[in-house]
Amino acid sequence: MNKVDFIYPANLSYECNRCGLCCGDTPHKIRHILLLPKEAQMISQQTGLPKQVFSKEVPNKDPYFYEMQKSVEGKCFFLKNNQCNIYQIRPLICRFYPFELKFSPDQGMYVFSYTLECPTINRGKPVTRKDFSELYRLAQEYLP
Ligand code: SF4
Repeated sequence: MNKVDFIYPANLSYECNRCGLCCGDTPHKIRHILLLPKEAQMISQQTGLPKQVFSKEVPNKDPYFYEMQKSVEGKCFFLKNNQCNIYQIRPLICRFYPFELKFSPDQGMYVFSYTLECPTINRGKPVTRKDFSELYRLAQEYLP
């Protein structure tokens, strides 16, 4: 990432209620929880689990090279009792949900969008520029 500014949705509110919806498949969606190589490495180091226990390699998703394994119920390997067991070191893709950041050639900058799949969009706390700045900083830190 080398562009320096972004735009974001105004007057949006959201507050995670830990429903766990974003941590697995839904009746309408197969979830792909993608991992950067350094994230898979860090999770492996911190949990003591070999990467192949909790993830599998995926082709053509650069810069993501792994995808989280899921339970037979379609939930993330690390979701237990509806709680993330690796919350402090959860992947960037989990930190971003329900937001997405893409470069827009037309606008010449990065653009944040969100998914209405998340039940707390437009409920809860206002999402401020500071919140989006933190996500933007994380993306710059993590992504090539
Ligand atoms: S790593 Fe944690 S936050 Fe991310 S999908 Fe798995 S359980 Fe959910």
